Amino acid sequence: MSVYDTCRVCGREPVRWDLRLFEDVLLCPVHEALTRDAVQETSSRPSWESPFGVWLAIGSYDSDGREFVVCSRDRGHSSTHDVGTLCRWCVTSYVEMVRYSREEVLARCETDPEDVRYRDEIRRRQTQLLRAVEIRLVTKDEALQVLERLARPLRGASV
Ligand SMILES: [Zn+2]
Ligand SMILES: [Zn+2]
Repeated sequence: MSVYDTCRVCGREPVRWDLRLFEDVLLCPVHEALTRDAVQETSSRPSWESPFGVWLAIGSYDSDGREFVVCSRDRGHSSTHDVGTLCRWCVTSYVEMVRYSREEVLARCETDPEDVRYRDEIRRRQTQLLRAVEIRLVTKDEALQVLERLARPLRGASV
């Protein structure tokens, strides 16, 4: 599978196109649900407090009769689409942010295991991973793998 037909966040198999929040924003069931919930949670907030804008009419149409729209949150986002639906660019940048947070949580540890701060670093990462599992950024198995990798040098040292 190429990078273009997998989840934008984790690279897993995406949900079927007709069940997607956006046909062209590919997400696996877990990250699709996460994004949907985020949209739902923020839908009652004023637009400047939500990461998701909706399309507003500007009163003009293209030659095929499709309505030009701008995003309620960021006037730089524009398209032709149905008025009142979610801005695709806002969803895309939210998904990018999720992907970045996930990579950060799963990243290798930069602290040297010999360093006295290594144990504190592991503790910090553990808290971070627990939180990431809670908000469905990573799976429990992924979190355990990272922890296992982080703890390995310590075990080696105690022998
Ligand atoms: Zn995913
Ligand atoms: Zn937008």
